[in-house]
Amino acid sequence: MENINFIPVIQQLSRPLSIVIVTHTNPDGDAIGSSLALFLYFLKKNHKVQVIVPDPFPDFLAWMPGHKDVLIYKSQKTEATAAILKANVIFAADFNNLNRLNDAGNVVKQSKAIKILIDHHLYPSDEFDLKISTPETSSTSELVFDFIEASGDLHLLDKNIAACIYAGIITDTGSLSYSCNYVKTYNIIAELIRVGIDGEQIHRLIYDTYSENRLRLLGYAISDQLMVLPDYHTAYIVLTAGDLRRFDYQIGDTEDVVNYALSIKNINLAALFMERDGIVKVSFRSKGHFSVDQFARDHFDGGGHNNASGANCSTSLTETVSLFRELLPRYQSKLKSVY
Ligand code: 5GP
Ligand code: MN
Repeated sequence: MENINFIPVIQQLSRPLSIVIVTHTNPDGDAIGSSLALFLYFLKKNHKVQVIVPDPFPDFLAWMPGHKDVLIYKSQKTEATAAILKANVIFAADFNNLNRLNDAGNVVKQSKAIKILIDHHLYPSDEFDLKISTPETSSTSELVFDFIEASGDLHLLDKNIAACIYAGIITDTGSLSYSCNYVKTYNIIAELIRVGIDGEQIHRLIYDTYSENRLRLLGYAISDQLMVLPDYHTAYIVLTAGDLRRFDYQIGDTEDVVNYALSIKNINLAALFMERDGIVKVSFRSKGHFSVDQFARDHFDGGGHNNASGANCSTSLTETVSLFRELLPRYQSKLKSVY
């Protein structure tokens, strides 16, 4: 990992401040994990702190220490707006562009607070005053650990902060199966275990808490809705609004569905297209050198990481899937050899 200079950020926080932590829409384990780890750490440093998310987070994250103190912009607009406008410092965790906050992003743009990014996506935007940013790390939660360490505060790392960091690392690495070929990541996990987290229990809380509907939706997605295109080393799944209704879709229920499409031998590109909240939510995953960040940015106005990206399209489900299929021939040779 390139050396990150934490000092300018540490200097900003040398007196008690009013800090707001914001994270991206459809918050995942790393978004909530990194935000709550920062929240709990800043409380220990005597700051006034508020975490704000654009929309609700999945139930399988609603065990994390501090989760009850999170404000949801969509349903608590007045309170969230007031907190953003009153803050001295705004931390942006686990995203690289204020557009990823939807409407809440406009309020953050209006705020005069110092805006600090802590994130591991490619191409951070210029909207931030200070940046702790590198793609060469497992997760934003790992960067929170680095930040606490660089601040000389590892003695403040307790079981609650450690649990949030661990949850962020395992959810962003598919339980340590990708984006984690770093000695440092495993050293950090050793530290987290040392301060008393129960890694097995955290894994159960996140992955062994499916509803029956969620599991049946996954089964349906794979048995009925999976399209495999061997010539293009591509597989994709399409879920309509009707499909989601049929299985009583709850936020987070389709997390990881796209990974099953990628798990097929010789499949190097996988996609999930889902009709949700009046838009088409797309998830892309890839193996090796095929960059789905580039692919999503070039054709779907989305982005993310090299091997995991997403987009929100205002085109219809049929149009979005057709565009995807039409693009494949021009990527045929790239998709053939990704290693
Ligand atoms: P997911 O498919 O799990 O929703 O997202 C995968 C990755 O892509 C995440 O790192 C997420 O932050 C990023 N991502 C998802 N949707 C979008 C989007 O609409 N725009 C951008 N720029 N990134 C996205
Ligand atoms: Mn992340």
